[in-house]
Amino acid sequence: MVPSLDGSPGPGWASASLPLAMNASAPVSRPLDVHSHANPDEVRVLHVELDLDMRFDRKVLEGSATLHFERVCPEASALRLDTRALEIRSAATAAGDGPWSTARFEVGPADPILGSALSVALPPGAARARVSYATRPGASGLQWLEPAQTAGKRHPFLFSQSQAIHARSWVPIQDTPSVRLTFAATIRTPPELLAVMGAAGNSTGSRGGTYRFHMPQRIPAYLMAIAAGDIGFAPLGPRSGVYAEPSVVAAAAAEFADTEKMMEAAERLYGPYRWDRYDILVLPPSFPFGGMENPRLTFATPTVLAGDKSLVSLIAHELAHSWSGNLVTNATWSDFWLNEGFTTYIERRIVEEVYGPETAGMEAVLGRQDLEDELVRLEDRDEILHIDLSGRDPDEGATRLPYEKGALFLRSLEELFGRARFDQFLRGYFDHFAFQSITTADFVSYLREHLFAGDSGKSASVALEEWIERPGIPAAAPRPTSEALHRVAAAAQEWAIGRTGPGLEGFPAWTTQERLQFLRQLPSPLAPQRLAELDEAFGLTSSRNAEIASQWLLMSLRGDYAAAAARLEEFLVAIGRRKFIKPLYEELVKTGGGRARALAIYKKARPGYHPIGVDTVDRIVGWQA
Ligand SMILES: [Zn+2]
Repeated sequence: MVPSLDGSPGPGWASASLPLAMNASAPVSRPLDVHSHANPDEVRVLHVELDLDMRFDRKVLEGSATLHFERVCPEASALRLDTRALEIRSAATAAGDGPWSTARFEVGPADPILGSALSVALPPGAARARVSYATRPGASGLQWLEPAQTAGKRHPFLFSQSQAIHARSWVPIQDTPSVRLTFAATIRTPPELLAVMGAAGNSTGSRGGTYRFHMPQRIPAYLMAIAAGDIGFAPLGPRSGVYAEPSVVAAAAAEFADTEKMMEAAERLYGPYRWDRYDILVLPPSFPFGGMENPRLTFATPTVLAGDKSLVSLIAHELAHSWSGNLVTNATWSDFWLNEGFTTYIERRIVEEVYGPETAGMEAVLGRQDLEDELVRLEDRDEILHIDLSGRDPDEGATRLPYEKGALFLRSLEELFGRARFDQFLRGYFDHFAFQSITTADFVSYLREHLFAGDSGKSASVALEEWIERPGIPAAAPRPTSEALHRVAAAAQEWAIGRTGPGLEGFPAWTTQERLQFLRQLPSPLAPQRLAELDEAFGLTSSRNAEIASQWLLMSLRGDYAAAAARLEEFLVAIGRRKFIKPLYEELVKTGGGRARALAIYKKARPGYHPIGVDTVDRIVGWQA
């Protein structure tokens, strides 16, 4: 089915079942965002009130969403929302504070990518609409975990993941990042569970089954977030803390002890933190991402709990989104690099402030390696920062490219114009566009006006078009270097040709970044006996550091190292983070008899994966339901 992208209501509109008195022939301006059915150019949602019951027995949320809106077009006769597989029960509208009257509504045909438009007929003067609904058990934006899938094993757990276009699977809403709204929520859970949201009002202890939240800052729908489970809390600083299952709270608080320092570093560089509190929720291991920058409450994978703070650049990243992404937001998913490229650049600046230039330098080198690897895999069209995603799921644009190429572009500007000037420019950019959603074109004109103007010599040397609109990386792009990683690469080469020089003796004291570099710089594939030598010396198969373990398991698959087979299965069944599981399944299906083995492991792992992880791995292994 071809997605209905022109803003027309679609063929279902004409169905005789619900003859709506709406003016279907009224001119509809083409929406800015091809991934939304909504009509914010006519009727724009400003505020949402959620009233929802969490039904763990049936794995559904049910209740209502009350939408307050403004009539951009006074003659507009319908409010059009995005939904995906929602059960819509009824709709009502009201004027001002007036009484509710039943409203006619129509659910359009289900597009495989976009879901269905929900149109609610608006009488003149209506300023609110209430939709009563329930989610479905397979909602793409929710994961309902059985007690066995949690650390504590006694209580179920629920969490949302709304980016990119999954908010519509649990709230009927204008699910486009170009629309910003505030919200309030009343959430009811079983009394023993704690509910939290990316909002104000999170409890640090008391439970009871009814929770009230409000989000005073305007955010796009993809930043709406909810979770519930057996969740405890530990403070990190005066305005920060960590939520996690009780058995994980202490380890998480120790790992993230530098959060307040990171906030202060980011504020020195880019201006005040504008979201009041910054808390982190550590999720069970099925969470498909490293982190999700839900405002006020970052959702994070437990795979960053390495015990030595070596993977906390993830927190620097999610915190950086409090400026790039949450404060200044991509207006469409084609502008995603404005979120992630800026955030990756800022993440490394925060790491540099808190952990020093050597650590930040190592991460920049590894980031450039990730980018080179990605460029080998990607088609030309996906190597473009300002990517064209029409007709595709925006999740397909979430490769490493917008992160690392975007960060490299900003670094090239920093090197050219000087750090002081570039920092001042970025700070001004965040102030200027605060709480707005902008396009790549908006950024480019701001860049020309505020950085390029007044220095035509330097500006002329920026390959702007090549960076933003073309595949690949410009030849003059920065090449980050790190002395420590250079030494480690030399040690890897020595070891590879059979010399065990003094370089390798340092391995036990190396940082995670150095270990990763060493493993990545070894020849591929390595013979099983050579893998065994490394394993014996450094205990790699039993490493509990998820970054090291996933790199090692990849090498073990390539080198057919049988001693790591059981650990591979354990890792894939326990962890659902897509960054780790995707390359492992991809490698697995390449080996002899690998597909059968991949399917056998996946059969055990699949029930524990998030819908987004399932979608990814189903395709890799050719899963037939
Ligand atoms: Zn990010």
